[in-house]
Amino acid sequence: MSLSGKYFVETYGCQMNEHDSEKMCELMEQLGLESGDSADSADVVIINTCAIREKAEHKVHSSLGKIRAAKLRNPDMVIVVAGCVAQQQQHELSKKFRHLDLVLGTHNISELPDLVEKIRKDRQSIIRVGFAEDIRSLHMTAPRRGPRPICSYVTIMQGCSNFCAYCVVPYTRGREQSRSLVEILEEVSQLCSRGVKEITLLGQNVNAYGKDLGNGNRFTELLEKISNTRGLVRIRFTTSHPRDFDASLATALGSLDKVCEHIHLPLQSGSDRILSSMKRGYSFSEYLNKIEILRSKAPKCSITTDIIVGFPGESDDDFKSTLTALEQIRFDQIFSFKFSPRPGTKAEHMADQIPEKIKKERLAEVHSIQDKITQGYHKQLEGSVVEVLLEGRGRQNQFYGRTRTNKIVNFDDTGSYREGTVVRVKILRGLNHSLFGKIV
Ligand code: SF4
Repeated sequence: MSLSGKYFVETYGCQMNEHDSEKMCELMEQLGLESGDSADSADVVIINTCAIREKAEHKVHSSLGKIRAAKLRNPDMVIVVAGCVAQQQQHELSKKFRHLDLVLGTHNISELPDLVEKIRKDRQSIIRVGFAEDIRSLHMTAPRRGPRPICSYVTIMQGCSNFCAYCVVPYTRGREQSRSLVEILEEVSQLCSRGVKEITLLGQNVNAYGKDLGNGNRFTELLEKISNTRGLVRIRFTTSHPRDFDASLATALGSLDKVCEHIHLPLQSGSDRILSSMKRGYSFSEYLNKIEILRSKAPKCSITTDIIVGFPGESDDDFKSTLTALEQIRFDQIFSFKFSPRPGTKAEHMADQIPEKIKKERLAEVHSIQDKITQGYHKQLEGSVVEVLLEGRGRQNQFYGRTRTNKIVNFDDTGSYREGTVVRVKILRGLNHSLFGKIV
């Protein structure tokens, strides 16, 4: 059966969620629906949610509230909530929002078309959130056209088995499941035959790839094999866990031509006491040791990280250790957050929750230190020539692309060069969050 009309997808959260949304768009198009411009005028509205931060969760509630009036005008509209909040708050959501038709779990994406059709026919709401031993959507190939046609995500694994004290992922996405190497290689090769030049390998913990398949960690082997794909220019990956980071990955980052020199390696805190309470599985000196290995084997590699401030029990001294870590490691960029207790996690009911005011002050301090470091890196690049993959047009009609080290570069003009071309760019200005350059 096929349907007619429009669909609209609203996405919150990480790259994994963005990619799941791309898959859901593809499924809607296979069903005969076209992409629409707004939720109000769509026939199927999908809100793909994220439970990592409290803010994203509030946004979902607010979006569901706003769409109520449109559903009253168009009772045939099918409203879907997918993603981590759907997985976690299945019953609360359907009780609170009576106009919600489908609660779709993270392992159930491939069932979306059948469920939409069933709801249209039976006019009964459905909750579908079961965990599967083999997630069907994990094996779906990347959609034909994502928002950046020359760059594509490829999911290599889903879920996480680490159970960090603050994180919902193991509860909302299940334990780690890796895709087979053959299947991933096939997908990459298909994408490249469609003109994709850069792929980003996705997973909550990519450098543990293969552990659950029974042959140990096979991430570097995967990078080496993907490197042989004809037509592929660049390989990126995210996210890596410091505990599973080893010298072989550092070597791959320094020696495989197609693997871009960038790693996102979440530190979270510079205090051993807090790292242990977070259940991260490494101490600060172990993390630092891995950074030293990385810098010795891949000296050009940029390093980004995540920092959480105000984790329960974080004393002034613990916080100072984080600031010292930032000064010592000098990350290229960081993503920093105030701790927010997530339902169902170990940290939710921990003693010594930090007052909001202190969390805010600590976050501001982190920003002020890191902004100077990031700006310093950008200033250092002024006058140098870097390699950029042209990706398209961004805001203010400027063109943009990224360096191998994952820094955004904007230009006014690309001359005769087209999207998907690797160009050499002279950096004219190092700005706070990006670079401005000229093709040479
Ligand atoms: S490693 Fe920790 S923070 Fe990252 S997804 Fe797994 S449980 Fe969450």
